[in-house]
Amino acid sequence: MPLAKKCYHCRVIEDLTNTKLVALEQEYNNLQHYLQTKEDLGLYSANKQQADRFYKIVKKTSRYPISIRNDLIRIEHNPNTIAEYWVRIPVKLVRGGLWIGLIKPYEPIPKDAKICECKLYKRDNRWFLDVVVEKEIPEKLQYQNVIGVDMGIRHIATSVELANDLTKFYGKNLNHVRGHYFWLRRKLGIKKAIDTVKKIGSHEKRIANDIIHNISRDIVNRAIETNALIVLGDIKHLRRRRQNTKGRKFNRKLSGFQYYKLTQYIKYKAALAGIKVIQVSERWTSQYCRKCNRKGIRKIQGLFQCKKCNVRSENADRNAAFNIAYRALGYISKVGVTVKIPRTFPSVDRNAMMRKEATDFNQ
Ligand SMILES: [Zn+2]
Repeated sequence: MPLAKKCYHCRVIEDLTNTKLVALEQEYNNLQHYLQTKEDLGLYSANKQQADRFYKIVKKTSRYPISIRNDLIRIEHNPNTIAEYWVRIPVKLVRGGLWIGLIKPYEPIPKDAKICECKLYKRDNRWFLDVVVEKEIPEKLQYQNVIGVDMGIRHIATSVELANDLTKFYGKNLNHVRGHYFWLRRKLGIKKAIDTVKKIGSHEKRIANDIIHNISRDIVNRAIETNALIVLGDIKHLRRRRQNTKGRKFNRKLSGFQYYKLTQYIKYKAALAGIKVIQVSERWTSQYCRKCNRKGIRKIQGLFQCKKCNVRSENADRNAAFNIAYRALGYISKVGVTVKIPRTFPSVDRNAMMRKEATDFNQ
């Protein structure tokens, strides 16, 4: 049974009592001191062992989270006005550990999940706890729909559903956010307002992260609703495309990291729902017509044209997303899943696509 791992990024409540703050601060500072000098000024023994295990290479300028062994941490869901969860952190100064409150994370921590590891750290004078949980979730083997997802420049993601031809374009707003903050950063950069620039940087990241979370959630929710297998284009291809794209404007809008994140988010949200995700090479998916599998024309950015099918203005991302979904059909028997789409399949020479896929693969 596949294990779904998920990290919950939680913020520690700000109004901790002074005693707790001092104990936490001391444990953290002593860990940093220990890592840099190997001198133990007072560190909870298991925390020290964890540090020895995980931090083999220590950089002088970095600060490291307290890594807490899974059997030593306790998380209780006990919401009240100040906190959603309460966790017990083992520290040297307080016998029996320190109970601290956590603000409600982006998604609730599942009750039946196994806690794997937790990392406590400080950033911008705030405390955070990353909780990693593991859950055994059986993967579905039979599907009635396929969602193909193309990730690109104009839209961070374009999804198509083979069962009903539904197409969704995502992430225009992300480009907007990135564009706006890029402009602001540059304007302020001239005035050397470094602090402001930094602040905007993290603000932009948070907004972008929220958008990516929402996109991935929406795609996975559609897969849950329609019992669909998810097919993603492999992003290795995008990096090549990036190098080919000229001009600052495009480079600014295309970040390999965002695509990587989106892929990861979709994968783990799908894993939690027992939905299989297949990744296929994106090669040629944007060049070939989804209907006749012939090479098309892309004179106008964003539009795909095929002379044979007399297609003049198919959206290029949509065409690519369909090709990605079709491509996976050649793989599904290998990974042991079946897809039975209740409706007649859209007219496409599937065999040709699979044959082509076989040659692609051998190259
Ligand atoms: Zn065609």
